[in-house]
Amino acid sequence: MKFKYFKDPDNFSYKMKSEEKCSVCNAVGIWFDAGGFYGSGELNCICDRCLINGELEELEKFTNDVYMGNEEQIREITYRTPTLPTWQDIEWPFLNGDYCIFEKFASKEDYKNKQEFIESILPSDKDLVDFDSLWSALPDKKIKNIKDGNNNTTVYLFSSNGKKVSTWDAN
Ligand SMILES: [Zn+2]
Repeated sequence: MKFKYFKDPDNFSYKMKSEEKCSVCNAVGIWFDAGGFYGSGELNCICDRCLINGELEELEKFTNDVYMGNEEQIREITYRTPTLPTWQDIEWPFLNGDYCIFEKFASKEDYKNKQEFIESILPSDKDLVDFDSLWSALPDKKIKNIKDGNNNTTVYLFSSNGKKVSTWDAN
């Protein structure tokens, strides 16, 4: 099961700690934690299939708060894409007419070198960042999953047409 804008939900999304029933269809598994979703009403968790099928739209719950792009792109990110695992609400990067694909939490190993990292920083972020301190805040070793990445500064690696795009936030 694939999400258009979220590469590796098993390792980099907010999932429940143990098997539970999907709040929509009752299927049992380790599903997305819906506790942090936007919108009204109670929802404990939702399975991959229900999320991809857009079940949230009728429940008036949504996973991400975005406004760039056309209606279909917005609905895809809002209702059918796992929540971006960020400390603060950062905007889902939008480049070249489409949303970027969230790949993972980044480490130094995800870039050929510092120069490639600098070039990957989201254009709208470029004025805001001290490249040296952000580079040194990057972990050396690959981050395998969301639990691995519990640092004060997190760099999020996206892709746009196969090119790396990076943004970050701090705890
Ligand atoms: Zn379900």
